[in-house]
This record gives sequence, structure tokens and C-alpha cells, in this order.
Amino acid sequence: MALEGCGDLPYQLDFSPLEQVGFTPSTVVVQLPPGLKQYSTTIAECISKITGWKNIILHGDPSYGACDLSYPELSTVLGADLIVHVGHTPYPKSLSPTVEPGGRPRIVYVPAKSKTSISEDAAARAAEILSPNARRVGLTSTVQHAHLLPALASMLMNHGLETVLPRGRPPYFLPGQVLGCDYTTALAAGPVDAYIFLGGGFFHPLGLYLATRKQVVQVDPYSSTVRDVTPDAERVYKVRLYKVSQAFDARVWGIIVGLKTGQYRPMLIRRITRLVEEKGAKYSLIAFERVTLQELRDIATQYDAFVVTSCPRLPIDDLSHCEKPVLTPGEARMALSGRLEPYLFPW
Ligand code: SF4
Repeated sequence: MALEGCGDLPYQLDFSPLEQVGFTPSTVVVQLPPGLKQYSTTIAECISKITGWKNIILHGDPSYGACDLSYPELSTVLGADLIVHVGHTPYPKSLSPTVEPGGRPRIVYVPAKSKTSISEDAAARAAEILSPNARRVGLTSTVQHAHLLPALASMLMNHGLETVLPRGRPPYFLPGQVLGCDYTTALAAGPVDAYIFLGGGFFHPLGLYLATRKQVVQVDPYSSTVRDVTPDAERVYKVRLYKVSQAFDARVWGIIVGLKTGQYRPMLIRRITRLVEEKGAKYSLIAFERVTLQELRDIATQYDAFVVTSCPRLPIDDLSHCEKPVLTPGEARMALSGRLEPYLFPW
């Protein structure tokens, strides 16, 4: 099942997983990543046309990842018996045991591959920007562009580079695919001198740098730009070390617990509470669906430091202006053991 004849979208959607559903759902909820929301009615019509399903509800809330399926609400409030989640691979169960509770609603993941391409010129510029010492280079991307990495590898080889396309981990990771909170695929490349990241924005290349501390050159297929993100990422890294040092003497910790099904991490919470207790410090567990800067400021006078166990990108991307240090789990482990090295990201 492809989307042929259902509209000219910048992504190739593969609806073949819908064939595995095996029942006629009474209520279907369709979840789309931000880049596909503008095509939501077209996509819903396509699903209806292909499957014959009638009661399709579009999920309007943001869907930044498969960690955030709103499973309990869709089940209890809407009585949905199927979630069609477009554009992400399943969230790894190793990161959250509650991500897919099982039973109803069932979840089907529909791949959405970007139709962009990479030019020879972009590959040549990436090879030029890489440090002269970089001979062996790891290739990474997000789920939308990961299928383009083999073509990029061939182009880079013409510039004398040895490329490593790290293997995937089905069904969670395609070869070379990283998540904002998981760079194990990149690390599986083994010893490399640098990484090339294929994709847009600063979010993933920043995470790649923090997780590997290697040079990261970004090839952006949207803007056709190529740049070394390392200096900007290095600046963020230095801020993170300062935040860790601010929490060295914290006596009262606020431990943020995630309420989204893929962001509740009981083992990690136990690990951090144990470290806090071993340090002779105190803590409170504070549950949030999504914690904001204002909400943290409202309670900040009671704490010396916070650690966010839900989405480890929140401390870096959303909460870094809080007056109290707000750390990722890895950074909290550093602070609680009183050391700045090695930098642990994200867990
Ligand atoms: S980075 Fe945050 S939002 Fe993205 S997949 Fe991970 S937990 Fe979810």
C-alpha cells in the first residue's frame, strides 16, 4: 500500500503495515509529526480510501516522538481501538517499559520517507569541512532521511573517506538512525574520527555531539547547506558542565517523573533516588506530563537542583534558563558523584 494518487506530498508514506491490523477498528486515531500536519486531511482520506475505515480522528496535539502516543487518553476518553502513528519508528522499550501497554488500542507505525535527495556538491562540501585528520566517518540521520545514507556513503567514498553506516536495531532504529535521546546507533559505528549528520535543525546534531564529543558536520537536505556544528555544540557543552558543577552541593533534589507513557522510567528513577540517598541528600518526586520553565520556577525555591527523567532534552533545549540547575539523568549522576568527566549524555 503506497500513497500513489493520494496527493503530492514531500514524504513517501508506506501504508503496508495497515494490512497487518487484522480487524476493522471502530475508532482510529491518526498521529502525525509536525512536518506532516499540514497534509492531515489528505492523509486521513487516503487511509479511509485504502482501508475502508470510517471513524478517523486526527490527533491535533504535537507528536514529537513515539515516546508520546497519549495512549491512556485515547483509550479511555475516545475509546480508540487503533492508533496509526506516522513518521516515527517505535520508541525503544529499553528506555521506557510503559511505552506500549498492550491490549487496545493497537498501534501501527507508518513510515514516512523524505523525498529530498543529496547532491554531489553537498557531499563534496562535507568532505571539505571535515577535519583533515578525519579519515573514518560515521553516518547518522533521523528516521525521515536514513534511507539516503547509503547514497551519501558512496559519494563520500569518492572523496577518499572511509564511511561507517552503523547497523540498525529493528524495529526501533534504521541503520544510522538516532533519536534526540538515544545515540547508541551512532556509538555502534565504533572508533570513528568524526560524524556526518544528515537532516535539518540543531536538535539532533547537538545531541550527537554531546553523546560522542566528536566533530559533527551537518548536511541539511532541506536548505542544501553543509556546516560544522561542532563550535556551537561545544558552547552548549560548556554550559552543561557549568550546570553540573552548580549542582555538586545540592542538598534537596527535585526529580521530575514523566507522565507520558514513553517517558516514565521507573528503573532510572530508582537509580537516581538511590544516588541522592547515598549522598545524604533529600528529594521529592514531581510528576509532569510536560514540565515548563514557568512551572519549575513556581516550585524552585524548595530545591537546590532538578533532574528530568522524562525527556532528557528538556533541561538542555527548554529549561536551561532556570535559576536552579536542571540536569539530564547523566548530568545528575555526574553531579552526585562530584565529577565533571566523563560527560554522560543523555542517561
Ligand atoms: S528526545 Fe524526548 S521527545 Fe524525542 S523521542 Fe526522546 S524522550 Fe521523546
